[in-house]
Amino acid sequence: MPETLTRGDNEKIFLWFFFPIIIILYLVYKFPTLFVPVEQVRDTFYFFGKSTSFWYASVYTAIVCYFSLLVIIRGTNPYSLVKRPISTYQRAKFSSIFLSQLIVFYLIPFIIPALQEGREFFNDPYHAVNKDAYVYVYNGFTSVSGLIYIFVIVPVLAWLVGKRYCSWFCACGNLSESVGISKWGQQWVRNYTPRSKTALQLEWLQFAILIFVLVYGLVLFLDLWQIFASATLTTAMYSFQVFAIDFMFGAIIGIGAYPLFGTRIWCRYGCPLAQLMKLFGKFTLSQARIKANSDCRGIGECSKVCPMGIDVKSFAHINKKPITGIYGLSQTPCISCGSCISACPTQALEFKTIFSKKGDNNE
Ligand code: SF4
Ligand code: SF4
Repeated sequence: MPETLTRGDNEKIFLWFFFPIIIILYLVYKFPTLFVPVEQVRDTFYFFGKSTSFWYASVYTAIVCYFSLLVIIRGTNPYSLVKRPISTYQRAKFSSIFLSQLIVFYLIPFIIPALQEGREFFNDPYHAVNKDAYVYVYNGFTSVSGLIYIFVIVPVLAWLVGKRYCSWFCACGNLSESVGISKWGQQWVRNYTPRSKTALQLEWLQFAILIFVLVYGLVLFLDLWQIFASATLTTAMYSFQVFAIDFMFGAIIGIGAYPLFGTRIWCRYGCPLAQLMKLFGKFTLSQARIKANSDCRGIGECSKVCPMGIDVKSFAHINKKPITGIYGLSQTPCISCGSCISACPTQALEFKTIFSKKGDNNE
């Protein structure tokens, strides 16, 4: 792959169609009544009696599984400019992506219940109900399992292994990781991930979204217990979340703008869960970090492939002189995807052993 990459004609054609298609499909999936009256939604958009969310999840899962399986089968390092075998870490990561997407985010919610109850798979009125993909605020604050997931399981994971949740398991991250290793995806990450000083400063936006989510969650929680009930406020906050955060930010910018800003815009600027993990990660005792050794030659491939826009090379060398820098969640929003490690031609970066003792570093 050439180092300086320009968009080819096919990609340009794809791009001109990409945005409108994403917007239209997402609108059909999320707001079908914008197009047809409610009583016609099923006849118009439910192919073979399956909901728009079923088809959305099917296409999404097919893309994730295709690219992740491909990289496992090919066995070549997807981040390196020179041909090298894929590392054990990357093989395990893409296996986890493949399995979690297929089983947790597709078979369990969409396929198994329909089969289990012995009804017809297609044209089954019981399972033709749309599932909302962005419900974690509502579920997180109105159910015990949601509360445990968001406020216990995810923070404990972040505390133990950093943000590997984001690169090994999360449904949004699964798409980012798998599209990010496709031919065009690699160009989008390398060429268009925002890396300027302003881009880094703008990451505060994610904190603002976390505050909104916590306030909205508190309102939902109080409403549930009938301590405080205001239909107007909950409706207004719900509408803001659905339109501004889920639709505009999560879908249109977060996925639709992969070709313009790389594959992790939502994860860097939008996702409140990531901000929560970062907060917990700051207090971690584990050593979920990456460390540079003295082999660095100042090539800077690491920074080019980082989908989170982290200046990895600044932890590995100064003026091309190697330094033994270490970084983790305290300093960066690193998701431990390992791209920087795999891209380095001199193997100057490595994961620190998670439960090793602190020390030997410049933290
Ligand atoms: S930042 Fe949020 S959306 Fe992105 S992978 Fe992590 S948890 Fe998922
Ligand atoms: S610093 Fe390396 S491991 Fe962390 S997000 Fe960037 S590329 Fe992935």
